[in-house]
Amino acid sequence: MFTYLPLRGALLLSLLQTAIASPAYPRNTQNSTCTKAKVAVLGAGMAGIAAAQSLHNASISDFVVIDVNSYIGGRVAHTTFGINSSTKQPYTVELGANWVQGLVSDGGPENPIWTLAKKWGLENTYSNYSSIQTYDQDGSADFARLLDNFEDAYSTVEQDAGTILTQNLQDRTMRTGLSIADWKPKKDMQMQAAEWWEFDWEYAYSPDQSSQTWAIVNYNTTFYQFSGDNNYVFDQRGFNYFIESEAYTFLQSNDTRLHLNTNITSIAYSNSGVTITNADGSCIQADYAICTFSLGVLQNDVVDFQPALPAWKQTGIEGMQMGTYTKIFFQFPPGSDGTFFWEHGPDPATQFFLYADPVERGWYPVFQSLSAPGFIEGSGIFFCNSRSYRAEQQDDDATKAEVMAVLKKMFGADIPDPIDFMYPRWSTEPWAYGSYSNWPPGLSIETHQNLRANLGRLWFAGEATSAEYYGFLQGRVLMGLKGAYTEGQAVGTTIAECIGGNKTDCKSEPSYQTVRGCTTSERQLTPENGWFVSSMDTFGF
Ligand SMILES: Cc1cc2nc3c(=O)[nH]c(=O)nc-3n(C[C@H](O)[C@H](O)[C@H](O)COP(=O)(O)OP(=O)(O)OC[C@H]3O[C@@H](n4cnc5c(N)ncnc54)[C@H](O)[C@@H]3O)c2cc1C
Repeated sequence: MFTYLPLRGALLLSLLQTAIASPAYPRNTQNSTCTKAKVAVLGAGMAGIAAAQSLHNASISDFVVIDVNSYIGGRVAHTTFGINSSTKQPYTVELGANWVQGLVSDGGPENPIWTLAKKWGLENTYSNYSSIQTYDQDGSADFARLLDNFEDAYSTVEQDAGTILTQNLQDRTMRTGLSIADWKPKKDMQMQAAEWWEFDWEYAYSPDQSSQTWAIVNYNTTFYQFSGDNNYVFDQRGFNYFIESEAYTFLQSNDTRLHLNTNITSIAYSNSGVTITNADGSCIQADYAICTFSLGVLQNDVVDFQPALPAWKQTGIEGMQMGTYTKIFFQFPPGSDGTFFWEHGPDPATQFFLYADPVERGWYPVFQSLSAPGFIEGSGIFFCNSRSYRAEQQDDDATKAEVMAVLKKMFGADIPDPIDFMYPRWSTEPWAYGSYSNWPPGLSIETHQNLRANLGRLWFAGEATSAEYYGFLQGRVLMGLKGAYTEGQAVGTTIAECIGGNKTDCKSEPSYQTVRGCTTSERQLTPENGWFVSSMDTFGF
């Protein structure tokens, strides 16, 4: 488990005693000792808090928010690290979300996360992706031009993705799209490093594992709608300060509706209500529930759903993929002149350092200086990322040794030892099981919709349920919901309308029992299409 800085102190666990009139709950789960609420919001991350806020805004106060963690923010999580030699206090660094991605352009809409970051005065700095130096196993090696080459090819990929989408053509891998655009890194490890910087770093999967169409949809809806800017948040109160602060605009201090440190183990759902059971034996009966758990949690059977999830829902959950992006933090001491070893290149203010390993693609390729001007100057904090699944499987010493070997190739053998080192293991964190989702090649919007769709009174609203903003903090923003900023807020508003309108049932989200491929009709299974032997014949097996 991570350690966190609780900003408002520990909040008391307690149960809401207010009963509601004649609720109907799933069969066999009625329990008079359960807490009763109109709406149970499962998860106190960005989506959960946004959902609760939309209920509050619609004058629905009979809700509870439940989270296994001791803080508000979910994957917007921070910890203390290193030591500030002036104050003798540790620094705060972000383990999860770190950037506001896409801000605002003239005449365009503003990313609502940026609006909130400004509202709560989060300290942040523009990440200048042109401020980069490139290295290989022999030290400094100038291959920054390859980033431009990738971006040229990417323009073609974008155009092609538009054609695929608008003409309803078959989706393909981002790799196919890049190859067609004549970007073919193959054994060129500098090209591989450039590609990692441009693609894997953002999507947490390689181009081979990602949809061309939906990677572009995802990119465009953030970076062409808002702006191409990414601002790095280094606020020492923690990035989650803005979520927590929003939460306390409608929650009271010690609000009994907020159930932190509460591990949900089962969710029984029906068309008439939802019963949530927790590891401590407590339970909540609600007319509606909004589940904001990460895709990783849903995929790892953390929660027992009753009845078992239907096949169409499972296809949606298993169809999307959960990525892992890990930041590996070092704090280094300054040299005798007060500077750090990565500041001795042509531009001491450089923000990023890209390494091309001669053998392994994605071998600790991207390093970032938090000592750069405008960040946490003088901190000596330098962090990198890598093929996260692998790094998260091994112990600290093994990873530290591997990264130090890379740094010595980049900057010379006489660099100092770190004075602190740390990294989270997102892929094994039982309340997340990964960092953020990615759209695999060939996943249709119908199958993704099955991930989003409600099961009776149980609704879903986590990051992965957004077809356009998956992987980001921001969610559904331009669906006619003024100020909506995540799927959570959108779903919360839907349910509030339903309750407010005294309807007996909300209009369900569409779901698809059967999702058909586009080339598998019997008419097309012909020798002309290369279908010579039927895979349905068993020949005596
Ligand atoms: C390493 C990393 C880097 C990222 N970088 C960025 C970035 O720079 N910019 C950006 O926009 N986005 C970034 N993201 C993505 C962003 O953090 C997420 O999209 C967003 O925080 C998801 O919010 P959510 O509310 O949907 O899910 P979550 O934050 O996961 O909230 C769900 C909540 O459910 C709780 N929960 C889970 N299981 C249970 C259970 N059994 N019982 C009770 N509670 C449970 C969890 O504790 C959690 O608080 C990053 C994420 C990670 C991990």
